[in-house]
Amino acid sequence: MLNLNFKKGVFLPKDEIMNLALRRNLFYPAAEIYSSSPSGFWNFGPFGSIIRRKIVEQWRKKLVEKEGFLEIDGTVILPRDVFEASGHLKSFSDPIIQCLKCNSLHRADELIKDSIYEIVPESMSNQELEALIKKHKIVCPKCKSENFSNVRRFNMMMRVMIGATEDNECYLRPETCQSIFPDFLRIYKNIQKLPLGISQAGKSFRNEIAPRNSLLRERELGQMEIEVFFNPNKIDNVEGWDEVKDYKLNLLLLGKEDVEKISCDEACAKKIVSGKLIAYLLARTQQFYESLGISNNLIRFRQLADDEKAFYSKETWDFEVKIDLGWVELVACNYRTDYDLKGHGNISKKDLSVVEDGVRFIPHVFEISAGIDRTFYVLLDLAFKKEVRGREERIYLDLSHEIAPYFIAVFPIVSKDGLPEIAKRIKNDLESYDFDVIYEEKASIGRRYAKIDEIGVPYAITVDYETLSDNSVTLRERNTMKQKRIFIADIPTKLWLLKNKKISFDDL
Ligand SMILES: [Zn+2]
Repeated sequence: MLNLNFKKGVFLPKDEIMNLALRRNLFYPAAEIYSSSPSGFWNFGPFGSIIRRKIVEQWRKKLVEKEGFLEIDGTVILPRDVFEASGHLKSFSDPIIQCLKCNSLHRADELIKDSIYEIVPESMSNQELEALIKKHKIVCPKCKSENFSNVRRFNMMMRVMIGATEDNECYLRPETCQSIFPDFLRIYKNIQKLPLGISQAGKSFRNEIAPRNSLLRERELGQMEIEVFFNPNKIDNVEGWDEVKDYKLNLLLLGKEDVEKISCDEACAKKIVSGKLIAYLLARTQQFYESLGISNNLIRFRQLADDEKAFYSKETWDFEVKIDLGWVELVACNYRTDYDLKGHGNISKKDLSVVEDGVRFIPHVFEISAGIDRTFYVLLDLAFKKEVRGREERIYLDLSHEIAPYFIAVFPIVSKDGLPEIAKRIKNDLESYDFDVIYEEKASIGRRYAKIDEIGVPYAITVDYETLSDNSVTLRERNTMKQKRIFIADIPTKLWLLKNKKISFDDL
């Protein structure tokens, strides 16, 4: 489950990020022209949806496919029995409390966290929460009243009734993995081999009482999840172990203040993790986020205490990234043991066990559950740069080549005198080489540069009057605004070198 961490006080997204998102249609509230639209639902606009898609593509390429994991695309609506089996009907709830003066609803744990700046364990009982609220004389944030109802539990799953008579009770999945577990046996029968990684990227739904912080707590959220099914007796048999054994994980151990860099080997030897497979998967997760351009000193795995962990987890590491206002959890890594397959086996009355070396057992699961939209938000926050040059202020997104919506922009400096025709030919040529290209000819060149800077396009080519005489164009670099003249014939090769980081812009 996803949790936010606080440095102090309420965590608010940077206004600047929100302004940029709205100005460039990266993301914005769903159905915003209607006042009846509930909060916590966000649409990704033309540029935002490309960045978001590229994040998922990177995950697929660098984690799923590289590790030989499989991917499914399951439905978001699942029958009640699934959530009876998963425990969500019973346990997937938030403590809520109502102000008796203004009737506003609050999450009791959030109310406490926002008032006394302390993390409230998920396991805290209703009575304990009530006692804390009384002890600290916490007031309603809306009307300042101290008069609250008792704490009660509110199930966060969204119910849907299926069929003309609406007699089949179903739910929108609160996590994508709940369409993976019921599929396990079908997929295993085809593969007959453990460990077996089954992944999925898709939407999940949580009826949050107080969605906030834009993409950091939504009611409809994107998840990319990997469930690795394995034989618990072979947790230390890991193919590819040599590739990670010396790799250092950034671990924040229970009760510690500082992150320690601990090699996978050492983490296993000191029994910090339950086995090599877990160290291996944590390493691959950390490497994946580093490959998206997040610097190593801004990331950590935080070890969760028993009372903080989700109800199904034996061992949990929250992968967190530091942005201006604090650490944000992007991935929950949960050792779910045989909890899920056991539960689904019991309720479905199907035998979900497998046989290996003549022994029958229920596979264990280690999960890497990443938030797509949170990853999107954090990458945006880290990429956001503002610089002042003289009286001019410039904003640009320092996105990596892999997730920038386009690699190159092509502009004719004016939309006449044959320049657009040349620019369009360059665009078509680059697309035939598989570059992602954005072409624009409206607005002044300065405005067009400002636009592509703000959506993170790394390079731009401008066709101008000089092009007519010598077939050269201007190539501009986003981060430095440096410009170079290059010949049209050299464009594909030079861009390929830049894209694949074979050469720097200065050495071009
Ligand atoms: Zn109130």
